[in-house]
Amino acid sequence: MTNPKYIFVVGGVMSGIGKGVASSAIGRIMQSKGYKTTAIKIDPYINVDAGTMNPTEHGEVFVLDDGYECDQDMGNYERFLGETLPSINYMTTGRVYQEVIRKERNLEYKGKNVEVVPDIPLEVIRRITEAQKAAQADVTLVEVGGTIGEYQNIIFLEAARMFKQKYPHDVAVVMLSYVPIPGNIGEMKTKPTQYAARSLNSVGIQADIILARATVPLDEKRKEKIATFCNILPERVISAPDVQSIYDVPLNYEKDGLGDILTDVLGLEHRPTDLSEWEAFVKKSKNGGTVINIAVVGKYFDSGEFVLADSYISVLEALKHAAYHQDLKLKISYLDSEEYEKNPEKLEELGQYQGILVPGGFGSRGIEGVIAAVRYARENKIPYFGLCYGMQLLTIEYARNVAGMQGANTAEIDPAAPYTVIDFMPEQKEKIAKGQYGGSMRLGAYPCALADGTVAQQAYGVAEIKERHRHRYEVNPDYIKKLEDAGLVFSGTSPDRTLMEIAELPATGHPFFLGTQFHPEFLSRPLSPHPLFMAFIKAAGEKK
Ligand code: GLN
Repeated sequence: MTNPKYIFVVGGVMSGIGKGVASSAIGRIMQSKGYKTTAIKIDPYINVDAGTMNPTEHGEVFVLDDGYECDQDMGNYERFLGETLPSINYMTTGRVYQEVIRKERNLEYKGKNVEVVPDIPLEVIRRITEAQKAAQADVTLVEVGGTIGEYQNIIFLEAARMFKQKYPHDVAVVMLSYVPIPGNIGEMKTKPTQYAARSLNSVGIQADIILARATVPLDEKRKEKIATFCNILPERVISAPDVQSIYDVPLNYEKDGLGDILTDVLGLEHRPTDLSEWEAFVKKSKNGGTVINIAVVGKYFDSGEFVLADSYISVLEALKHAAYHQDLKLKISYLDSEEYEKNPEKLEELGQYQGILVPGGFGSRGIEGVIAAVRYARENKIPYFGLCYGMQLLTIEYARNVAGMQGANTAEIDPAAPYTVIDFMPEQKEKIAKGQYGGSMRLGAYPCALADGTVAQQAYGVAEIKERHRHRYEVNPDYIKKLEDAGLVFSGTSPDRTLMEIAELPATGHPFFLGTQFHPEFLSRPLSPHPLFMAFIKAAGEKK
């Protein structure tokens, strides 16, 4: 193998055109040529990680195995590459500055002036090369967040420029652009792309490849135009029209030969691209015959479906993976739990769904409505799957309505409740008392032992698993016995049996009623769907 190779992906014209998916798709293509590939995301904000950000504004907070809370694009990378990525693959302005300042305080700069340029880009480069080494990657993708021309990401573009200047033959720059078709004109306009390419030139970077996002494929004339005015070869202008599903994107890029073009730019040896497994999955995703109706119940306010899809992207993808692998067409409906608080009779609408899922969450808004929905699912034998908060609320519902603990609640909402069946984990109390909110939950992958013969254990088919967490509260050990005596089964626990990880009802009494303290959605991959999502969708598919 030659030197390690790097592909920087930068965004021109505007945000929100799918830079994360584009980077993931490029990664998949290079990987399917047999190159070991890893992917890095750079976010330009000051937040040290994504843990303190509101998902309805920024999208889902994705959690890595090592507990780092990051942008949802890291989830796309893991799903497209089928790899587990470490936290060194994610950085923000805040994290980079924090590290530079730490080194300065430790005299690691040996008394010299520490400057924004070059010390910040050098730290960015150091992190990129460290991530490459950790993965032993032949090809490392680096997605630079934000849009060319804005103030915030300039320091990262400077890092890309310095890197390319140092290794001119090992770095490729891909610019993702947008080619609008204004309604009153009705034809594709390439000028915004030309301006973006020029802005990129003004920071010393020439794009090698342009991915032209648009609603439709580029015609030859626009390709030529972009090539001429953005100073690149016409065959390196790749058409990136809107597609039905994000999983189409690698296949679409390959139609224009993107993998071979990158191979040329980077001076790699030519190898065939084997996307056959991927293609088989994409085919499955389109063939799905029978529709399966799943309700996702939560506190949805001030947000449209678009925002919701972004806030729960891993959950949606995990549901899709499981449905497609069972040849089902997935239909998701978001149901606002606050409605059930105002009009309890509205709960009846849940009867028409084949499965009810409650995702993770925080705070008290809409929670009584969710608990009512859990009860409805339990009593009417509708498959129910609770993720994190969804498991805690399942426990509260069971405590109140079956185990006779009237007024049971989580300490997150009512610390003075008569039965706090969900309570602070002991170390969490101190952290909150000190106001330490950032990165302080129970985060990342922990082992979980499964009890033989349970729904969970049968789904996984093994005795111990590892899953990713993000929570402050847990099932209160004081009430475990009472809940078990009333019939709730804790089928997954920490190996020392102190933390309850999975709660379920036996298969004899309910088709599927299960909640996990962890977030299984983070480990579902298109080519290897998550066992619990598979079991939930199977039960839902069997519901009349
Ligand atoms: N709010 C709950 C807790 O902190 C659940 C968190 C979640 O759903 N991610 O434990």
